[in-house]
Amino acid sequence: MADFDVVVIGGGVVGLAAAAAAARSGRTTVLLERHDACGTETSSRNSGVIHAGIYYPENSLKAVTCVAGRKLLYARCERDRIAHAKLGKIIVATCDDEVPKLEQIAARARNNGAGDLSWLDADTVRRMEPNVQAVAGLLSPETGIVDAHGLMDSYRAEARAYGCDVAFRTEVTQITTKGGAFQVATRAGTGETMTIECGQVVNAAGLSSDRIAAMAGLDVDALGYRLHPCKGDYFRLASHLRGLCRHLIYPVPVAAGLGTHLTLDLSGDISAGPDTEYVTAPRYDVSPDKAHEFGEALRRYVPIIRDEDLSPNYAGVRPKLQGPGETFRDFVVEDAAPHGLPGMINLIGIESPGLTASEAIANRVVELLARTHHQGT
Ligand SMILES: Cc1cc2nc3c(=O)[nH]c(=O)nc-3n(C[C@H](O)[C@H](O)[C@H](O)COP(=O)(O)OP(=O)(O)OC[C@H]3O[C@@H](n4cnc5c(N)ncnc54)[C@H](O)[C@@H]3O)c2cc1C
Repeated sequence: MADFDVVVIGGGVVGLAAAAAAARSGRTTVLLERHDACGTETSSRNSGVIHAGIYYPENSLKAVTCVAGRKLLYARCERDRIAHAKLGKIIVATCDDEVPKLEQIAARARNNGAGDLSWLDADTVRRMEPNVQAVAGLLSPETGIVDAHGLMDSYRAEARAYGCDVAFRTEVTQITTKGGAFQVATRAGTGETMTIECGQVVNAAGLSSDRIAAMAGLDVDALGYRLHPCKGDYFRLASHLRGLCRHLIYPVPVAAGLGTHLTLDLSGDISAGPDTEYVTAPRYDVSPDKAHEFGEALRRYVPIIRDEDLSPNYAGVRPKLQGPGETFRDFVVEDAAPHGLPGMINLIGIESPGLTASEAIANRVVELLARTHHQGT
C-alpha cells in the first residue's frame, strides 16, 4: 500500500489548487513545500491581476484555463470572501501605429471569450482617465485584482477540509519508481530524510518544475521543458499620485511580457511594472537605477509621471518556456505517460495568467489523474 494516492510538489497557488482538487476528488493527498510557508515564490511576486483572457492564442491552454479560471476565481472570491475588486482595465494605443495591434488584440479577446469589451476613442479614454494620453483604448470590464494570499488560504482550507496536509520545510530531492508506485525522497529543514510512496505525483514546483521533471528521469531538453527564468521588476508610485488612475492601464504588449503597466492594489496604491529581463537564476533585487527606464515607458501614456515619483518595490520571476527571442509557448499540463512515467503530472511554464487560471489548471490535473488511474497504473 502506498502512503498516499497523490503527492503534490510545491505550495504555490497552483500546487495548492491542485492539492485541494485532488483531495476533493477523494484521493489521499499530501503537499510538500520546501519553505516554511505557502506561496513565498512567484505566487506572492506578481501583479495580482485577475486576467480576462485577452492576449493568448485561441484554444491555447493559457486562453482556455484563463477564461475558465477567471469565472471560477470570481465565484470563489464571493463564496470565501476573498478580497478582490473588478476594476476593469484599459489597454491603450499611444500612437496610430499601435492601433492595428490593438484591433488584433480585441479580435483575439472576443474569440477567447474574454467577456465584454469596449473600443474607446481618444476622448472617451481622456474622460475615463484624465491623466492617460492615448489615441484609442480597449476596455475590459472583466479584469480585476485579487488578494493572492487570500486565494491561497482558500485553497489550503479546502485541501485541509478534505484531509490533505501540507508538509513545510520538506524539499523533494529525488523521484524514482518501484512496482508502478513513485518513491519521493525528501529532506526536511532539520536535515532529516524520508521517502514517501505514492501512486501519482503532481509537479507544481514553479521555477524548479523543470528540475523536478529531470529528477524523475525525464529528458527536459528533448521534451522542451527547460525553463528560462525571466525577471520582472516593479516600482511604487509616490503617494501623491494615488488616484492617478481608476482602472488598470496597460500599453500594447511587448515581446516577452504585457508591457510596463500600472496596477492598483486593494489599498489603492499604484505600482508600475513588470519589465522583462532574462536571468540565469531567480533573484529579487530591484535596482533604483531603472527608475528612468520605467519613467520613459510610463510617460508614453501617463506624461505626468516623473522619475523621482518612482521607488523600487519588488520583483518576481516568470518560469518561462519561451526563451529570449522565441515565439509563444503554452502552459505544459501533461501526464508523462508517453515518456514512460504514467501518473507523473507535470505543470511547467506556469507563468501569467497562472494565478487567474489556478483552479481551471487544478481541474485539468484531476482529469489527468483519473485518466492514468483508469489505465490501471
Ligand atoms: C512578474 C509576474 C507577474 C505576474 N502577474 C500575474 C497576474 O497579474 N495574474 C496572473 O494570473 N498571473 C500572474 N503571474 C503568474 C503567476 O504568479 C504564476 O503563474 C503563479 O504564481 C504560479 O504558481 P505556482 O504554484 O505554479 O508556482 P510558485 O508560486 O512558484 O510555487 C512553486 C512552489 O514550489 C516549491 N518548490 C520548488 N521546488 C521544490 C522542491 N524540490 N521541493 C518542495 N517544494 C518545492 C517552491 O518553494 C514554491 O513555493 C505573474 C508572474 C510573474 C513572475
